[in-house]
This record gives sequence, C-alpha cells and structure tokens, in this order.
Amino acid sequence: MAFHPQTIIEPFRIKMVEPITATQPADREAALREAHYNLFQIPAEKVLIDLLTDSGTGAMSTEQWSGMLRGDESYAGSRSFYKLEAAVKDITGFHHIIPTHQGRAAERILFSTICRPGDVIPSNTHFDTTRANIEAAGAEARDLAIAEAHHPAVIHPFKGNMDVDLLQQTIAEVGAEHIPVCMLTITNNSGGGQPVSMENVRAVSAICHAHNIPLFIDACRFAENAWFIKQREPGYADHTPLEIARELFRLADGCTMSAKKDGMANIGGFLAMQQDEWAARCQNLLILTEGFTTYGGLAGYDMEAIAVGLYEALHEDYLRYRIRTVAYLGDKLIAAGIPIVQPTGGHAVYLDAGALLPHIPSAQYPAQALCVELYRLAGVRAVEIGSVMFGRPRADGSEDAAPLELVRLTFPRRVYTQSHVDYLTEALLYLGAHTATIRGLRITWQAPALRHFTAHFAPLGVEAAIG
Ligand SMILES: *Cc1c(COP(=O)(O)O)cnc(C)c1O
Repeated sequence: MAFHPQTIIEPFRIKMVEPITATQPADREAALREAHYNLFQIPAEKVLIDLLTDSGTGAMSTEQWSGMLRGDESYAGSRSFYKLEAAVKDITGFHHIIPTHQGRAAERILFSTICRPGDVIPSNTHFDTTRANIEAAGAEARDLAIAEAHHPAVIHPFKGNMDVDLLQQTIAEVGAEHIPVCMLTITNNSGGGQPVSMENVRAVSAICHAHNIPLFIDACRFAENAWFIKQREPGYADHTPLEIARELFRLADGCTMSAKKDGMANIGGFLAMQQDEWAARCQNLLILTEGFTTYGGLAGYDMEAIAVGLYEALHEDYLRYRIRTVAYLGDKLIAAGIPIVQPTGGHAVYLDAGALLPHIPSAQYPAQALCVELYRLAGVRAVEIGSVMFGRPRADGSEDAAPLELVRLTFPRRVYTQSHVDYLTEALLYLGAHTATIRGLRITWQAPALRHFTAHFAPLGVEAAIG
C-alpha cells in the first residue's frame, strides 16, 4: 500500500493560542463609522481575521523563541550577530552583512549612499518604500515588468519577470553611468506576489554585468520565489529551495531584506553586498542612524529569531502549505467566478474589485468599498491597492485613477488554519453574489502624502436611496 494524501496539512501544531472573538454586526458598523470607513483606523481587537499584511505578523516557532532566550545583547560583537551573519552568508554568499531594523532602513542606507540626483534605478516593480527611498535620494525608480504583469486575468508562470528588452533600452537611453544599481523584487509584491524565474534573473544579471551595473535583489520573499522556481521552472524540480536560493543570490551583487517577511520574524532586516567600498560607506551611515555594525537597531534576540527563521522559511513542508493556502482560496474564488489576479502568488490573493464591481467608477473607490463590505459582513480586514493608494489628485479636484482596483487578502505566516480560509471563502462567495447593493465612497478628508493610511471616507448612495 502507498498512501498519497491529497490534503496538504498545516505542518505545525499549536502550543500557544491567542483568542479571536467575533464581533456583532452593530459593533462593526459602529467601528466603521468611528474609523471613517478606513480599515487602518480600526483597532485590531475588533478584527476577526486580519489579512492586512504578511509583514511582521507571522507566528514564530519553538526554535525561534528558544533563540530569543539565547540572544546576546552585547553592544559590540554580539554572538547573535555572528549567527545571523553566518546564516545570511550561507544562503546568499554575500560578503558584507549589515543588520537594520527593517527593510526600508536597508533601502534608505543603500540608496542614499549610492544614488546621485538624475540617476535611474530599474526594477521589475519597485515596492512603495523602495520607490520612496530612491526618490528621496533624488533618483528615478523605473518599473520594467513584462507586459503580462499588467493584465490580472493573463496566466504566466513567472509574471514577476523583468522585460529584458526594456532593460536594454533603458541602459541605452540613460547610460550605464547613470544606473548605479539594478533591482529585482522577488517575489514581485506590488505586481501580485508573482515570482521571477531563474532564467530571468540570469538574463538580467548578464545584461547588468556586461555594463558594469551591480544587480541587487529585494529579497523579502526569496523563499516563496525559490518554491515557485522548484514547481514551475524546468530543471529545478529536484533542487531544494535552499539550493535554488543560493543559485539565485549568486547571480547578484547584493540584496535588501525585510526579515518581517521570509525572515519569519516580527521585526528586522538587513543589507548585504559584495562591494567593500560601498559596504564601508553604508556601515558609516548605519552607525549614524541605526546603530553599531553588529546590531543595526535590532536586539540580539531579534537577530537570533531571524537567523533561525531564514532557514525555516526554506523548509519544503512549510512552503508547500504556505503556497497551497493561497492557491486553495484562489481556486475556490475562480471556480465561483470571482475575478482575481491569476495565477495566485506567494503571499496573497488579489481580488479584482474593478471587475467585480463594474457599477462603481474608480472615482468612487470600488476596492475600498469592497474592503469595507468584507469587514462589515465578516469581520475580515483586507487592504485596498487601488485608487485610494495610487490615485493622484489633479489641480481641478478630480483624480487620475490607479491602473487596477485591487483588494489584497494577505496571509500572515503560520497563523491561520484551513477553517479560517473556509470561513473567508464563504464570506467572499456571499459578497460575490450580492455585489449590486454595494455602493462606492467619497473622500471627505485626506493627508497630502500616503493618504490611504489616514483618509476619511463617507458612503455614497444613501442620499440616492432616500430620493
Ligand atoms: C515589506 C517590503 C519592503 C519594506 O520592508 P519593511 O520591513 O516594511 O520596511 C520592501 N520591499 C518589499 C518587496 C516588501 O514587501
């Protein structure tokens, strides 16, 4: 007999629990009103299933917690730093390992060290903090994703790839001397958590190196990307995720990392690179703004948790469960005809609110309306990735819409079980069958930058209903 189970189980058991309590519809209605229909303003205690982000929200393992107790809090030369350094060197092969308090600190230190005004930094798609830090350094962040990335319903195994022709055109247009570094985000977070193939990394690396341009990886979800390569790219089925990650990093010259993602930690990050002179300058800046070179703004116990977490993120059982969880939800939604970004990516399902709510124009924020409705109905918190986040006000008071109106359902690592996902599916199928009654919103107050965090909204359509 050979037992080949179809059910992919959570590869852990639970030894500490945090109760979550369902709120009543009236409580949620009141919470929405108090929060001005902005889910960032709702206290987490009033959320039943929180899918706002996978950043720092994961559950740590027994090994990570025991590492926390072994943390060495020495200011200089902490044992925990050497453990982190050894882990990052083992996985990436990079020579200089610079700890930071999170990913954006690594970005700020890198770009303010190497960018000059007028420089251009190409990427498949820059994450928003990456873009903001490049722009703060006076340079231009340019996205060069393949054409397929712009179409939610188009299936492509490596929809996170960079368009190598566009990269070559960019180098010819601006000149290699104005491109201090090229980035690749794996997986492509802003593009739907879509992976980048080894073949694409190899091609980008060859072009960059032919022009003496260093290639840096935004490595936040390097383990999830390695899993997709193993599953989808010819020649990699027999390689372990660790072997794939090693091969990928060795095509690059450095990386930035948020350990709140595939570091499996609640806080932390690092910058790693080969170049000695850049590293020395980055370390000077680190001492000025983050901390000494062997802690960089982290506690010793944080570095222990990351050193262990980087390997746990590469375990096959974990990755199989992680990616299957996202695909499990995606498959059910596709079967029910609910439009999502396809294929499902590594850390989230992205609902296509523009397609689901065609009666709500982008000026009335269909993705925000869907987030509000999902919370109202089921106590689930998702995040809007549409015209609230990316719309740009024009001088006449109207707005340029975002290219897509998406709602991201982001899965914290090792936190929720299959029954949580089943409950979520039920809620989404119910919503999908009752879209006609969902109304748009208008903004009644907004901050001058990053308005999505604090904007106030008011529901539309009540006046119309009253007549
Ligand atoms: C989260 C993230 C960052 C920034 O990291 P923080 O730890 O939030 O500062 C950068 N790039 C990508 C792709 C990310 O997902």
